[in-house]
Amino acid sequence: MSVNNLPFPVNGKGHLEIGGMDTIELAEKYGTPLYVYDVSIVRENCRAFIDTFKQLGVEAQVAYASKAFSSIAILQVIKQEGLSIDVVSEGELYTALKAGFPPEKIHLHGNNKSMEELTLAIENNIGCIVIDNFYEIELLSQLLEEQKKQIDVLIRVTPGIQSKTHQYIMTGNEDSKFGFNLANGQAEKAFAQLRNHEWIRFKGLHCHIGSQIFETDRFTTAVEILFSELTKWHQKFDYTPEVLNFGGGFGIRYTEDDRPLPLNIYVEELVRSIRSHINELDFPMPEIWIEPGRSIVGNAGITLYTVGSTKEIPGVRNYIAVDGGMTDNLRPALYQAKYHGIIANKADKPNDTEVSVAGKCCESGDMLIWDLATPKVDNGDILAVFSTGAYGYSMANNYNRFSRAAVVFVENGQDKLVIKRETYEDIVRNDISYE
Ligand SMILES: *Cc1c(COP(=O)(O)O)cnc(C)c1O
Repeated sequence: MSVNNLPFPVNGKGHLEIGGMDTIELAEKYGTPLYVYDVSIVRENCRAFIDTFKQLGVEAQVAYASKAFSSIAILQVIKQEGLSIDVVSEGELYTALKAGFPPEKIHLHGNNKSMEELTLAIENNIGCIVIDNFYEIELLSQLLEEQKKQIDVLIRVTPGIQSKTHQYIMTGNEDSKFGFNLANGQAEKAFAQLRNHEWIRFKGLHCHIGSQIFETDRFTTAVEILFSELTKWHQKFDYTPEVLNFGGGFGIRYTEDDRPLPLNIYVEELVRSIRSHINELDFPMPEIWIEPGRSIVGNAGITLYTVGSTKEIPGVRNYIAVDGGMTDNLRPALYQAKYHGIIANKADKPNDTEVSVAGKCCESGDMLIWDLATPKVDNGDILAVFSTGAYGYSMANNYNRFSRAAVVFVENGQDKLVIKRETYEDIVRNDISYE
């Protein structure tokens, strides 16, 4: 932290810097809106998880949930750091394979995996499929039988934990479109179908209890619930799991109100809780897998915008409009997500006014930030919004036929374009003339 409690430093010109680069120069060079990632932060986040498991002497896989931000370049960084990855679609799987990701470190998720997705996964011998439902067991059995191949699987279970976070990102509750219910016996039924399967190697259980979680007790509650089920399976079938996967959801800081824990704490608490159950039940220690998405890339990314029109409504509020919005960051419009930002070319100036930041889409809901303290804002200023590295580019869209913004990586004082800005030619690429 430096001036004004910012996550990035300010240089002698009063400009915000990221990865040793002047954000104003980056905006001039690549145009706006622009996503910029400090790759060293991505690496730090990866290492925080990996190193903690190592220090604790636990066999683990840290699988980056690539839906948070999937592109060839980011997956190459993730590969370099030795993580595994989760994919939830054929497109994400295709991107991972294109990035040269080792297939044995790819895990396939999804609540409605298609024949094509499962086929691509099997043909490429990926490391694990996380089975979500009974229909998928049928499809997968049929495909493996035809191809005379075996594959490792986990089953996704829903432990039924209430989430304190926004309901749209609540996935661990019992009334969920995801996974096998534990309480009503569906999970055990799935296990019974899979434990002696000819082609499916049953490795263990998966759960994902939500997103943007700040409390470790949510994870330790999940551990307790899984172990109470496993205790039953042990008594009935003499079964002990080889793998337990506790998903992702580790919270990050978007605004000053967010108080995330250091990443190692989540891992330490998870392992401590699993060890205590293992010791009590006299089970062998399973491999522990986790699936962080947001906490790997979220705080590494910022978005730069150029301020255009400004509008004062006396006694009401001051609006400033930027050259992006819900097309590059859907989260505020989708679930009222909060962000913090600064005027990057006035980063050393005192915040003596307050503005609300509007996007340029034809939707009154297209507001990026309400009531942000800033210096006086002029058109042509550059706004930097923090913590846009997760679910920003990956949810970007072409509403109003805006082109998707470019992505630049910075590391060691170097900048590199890793996703080109879409052109209008790209926008009409799939349109077919009707005259
Ligand atoms: C979305 C998701 C994740 C990642 O969640 P984050 O909040 O980004 O860490 C991990 N696992 C599963 C199954 C998910 O659906």
